Amino acid sequence: MIGREHRLSIATLTDYHLQDFIRCPYQFYYFHIEGKITTQSDWRKMVQFVVNQVVSRYYKLPPISQTTKKVLELIDDHWSAIEVRQFESKIHYYKALANITDHLVQCLTTERIEYPPLFLYEKFNINMDELGTELSLTFEVAEWSGNSFIIKKYLVDTDEEMNLLFNNMISVFCEKAFGQLPERIEIYSLMEGKKETFIPTKKDVSGGLEYLNMIKNLLQEPKKYLKTDSLAVCKSCSYQKRCYEGININPERFNSQ
Ligand code: SF4
Repeated sequence: MIGREHRLSIATLTDYHLQDFIRCPYQFYYFHIEGKITTQSDWRKMVQFVVNQVVSRYYKLPPISQTTKKVLELIDDHWSAIEVRQFESKIHYYKALANITDHLVQCLTTERIEYPPLFLYEKFNINMDELGTELSLTFEVAEWSGNSFIIKKYLVDTDEEMNLLFNNMISVFCEKAFGQLPERIEIYSLMEGKKETFIPTKKDVSGGLEYLNMIKNLLQEPKKYLKTDSLAVCKSCSYQKRCYEGININPERFNSQ
């Protein structure tokens, strides 16, 4: 059980924090609340950093230079900062490199980018009286579309819960900040090569507010945090030792491939 019993006060709900909280509340607590940085880096965060750099640089290129060769060069430029030891194993490292390369090439080069994006990795903050906090969100890519806009997120990996978080956050934020919902939200899961598309409606705004309120209440109560039940998340976690201190657990749980 987490030692701290006090209630947290939340001034800003940030997409980055909420994403970590949804992955595992305990991991979120060790990293963001206790501020315990471990020597072992989180491979997912390192790879996400590379993806962000590659996508951002690609979208700034003139259309004639937006080619497969250029995507490969950009990945090569940024991937060199990543070390094998940051992954679960060598196999995991090479799988990640192959999957991210393959799927980034597909996502970026399939459609021709005619106009510069409306937003490119821009962070926005807005005061939400309805939540009693600020909401902070980074728009990776927003593109014009007829009368509206399309939001694209390029993530290392994602799941249903994460997609629900982003769909809710984006719907609530866009309605409040721009008075308009995006035509659609596209979320790319680059390890799997999957794309999920959401068409937000006004119902998603009221539902999204309820959802964010619920997450805020959960975040404020560390003593009620639950550990993730995803073995895949635990296997890559740099807090395994801290998390299972004093608990007799079979190390094979984390080591099997
Ligand atoms: S080991 Fe698993 S449950 Fe513990 S903090 Fe890490 S991800 Fe969460």
